[in-house]
Amino acid sequence: MRTTTRGDRIRFASIVVTYRCNARCHMCHTWQSPSNPADEIGVRELAKLPCIPTVNVTGGEPFLRDDLGDLLDVLRPKTRRLVVSTNGYLTDRIVATARRHPWIGIRVSIEGLPKANDELRGLPDGFDHGLRTLLALRRLGLRDIGFGITLSDRNVADLLDLHTLSQAMGIEFATAAVHNGYYFHKTDNRFDHPEAAIAALEKLIDALLRSRRPKDWFRAYFNHGLTEYIRGNPRLLPCAMGGESFFLDPYGDVRPCNVMERSMGNLKHDDFRTIWRSPEADDIRRAVAACGQRCWMIGSAAEPIKRNLPAAVRWIVRRKACPGERRWAEGQGFPLLGASRMAQRHSGRPLPQIEDVRGKQGS
Ligand code: SF4
Repeated sequence: MRTTTRGDRIRFASIVVTYRCNARCHMCHTWQSPSNPADEIGVRELAKLPCIPTVNVTGGEPFLRDDLGDLLDVLRPKTRRLVVSTNGYLTDRIVATARRHPWIGIRVSIEGLPKANDELRGLPDGFDHGLRTLLALRRLGLRDIGFGITLSDRNVADLLDLHTLSQAMGIEFATAAVHNGYYFHKTDNRFDHPEAAIAALEKLIDALLRSRRPKDWFRAYFNHGLTEYIRGNPRLLPCAMGGESFFLDPYGDVRPCNVMERSMGNLKHDDFRTIWRSPEADDIRRAVAACGQRCWMIGSAAEPIKRNLPAAVRWIVRRKACPGERRWAEGQGFPLLGASRMAQRHSGRPLPQIEDVRGKQGS
């Protein structure tokens, strides 16, 4: 597989094929700023991309695009693994696409059990549709399927139930936490009850570490990173977006990530190699190296974890030897440190803000 590089090898890309969305999520307001279909990137722009081992196709809601199957045709020879993120509402379209492209993976965003999901996503019967989509994909025999939750104060109570549901269905379970950034059109996402979110994540971490699948152990480490993010601590590992990963928006702009609103260049006007090797791209990489944001999303965390396996393995071994429950019972974990003290320290502490990032541009 040939990879176009500048410094690090490109390992991952998030390709946003539309900003149109049929959901009305409380933690992401992309739906309020839909892209015009006439302006969205198509097969011509995607054909310019280099080979990239892992690709996430996302939106908005990608299945709103009538030509999504054509876009996947272009991407297929360029990647080893491609996962489409969706809210799962358009079951028939999703299943038809999976029939034509049985090589793809699909992740349905499910924010909780029916009440929480439908409230947070603003989609009547959204949970019902999402679950039906997953069941239909399972019947179809699609192997790489699962669902994912974006954790906020409003769905913490459902986190472990969703994990149990994923285990019962034998499918993957991904986690995220609310962030702010231009992509989300949000600057006010925050945890007012971080102690509750951290406690739920600690229980999930222990459950993942009890799994027999090593993949779940590394998921536990990722979730440990989420607890650090919610605590207001620095990232577990440095961010390398713009060097080994990038974010392509629906207008063709090649960006480092979904929080730092800078563009290396536009695929509608230039080829990828020119953009990737441009002075602007190098300047953005310097800004990423100096970035003070503490984002911890799978797109910016997965590759650093893979590159720093010894650090992850050390944590896994230590944590397996002394699980969270035992640490708490021995007074080493925050619940005995005092939830109210924890809440005092972190309640209302703002998550990364879009203005903060803009202020660092060019630094
Ligand atoms: S830490 Fe900085 S460069 Fe990395 S994803 Fe966040 S804003 Fe982007």
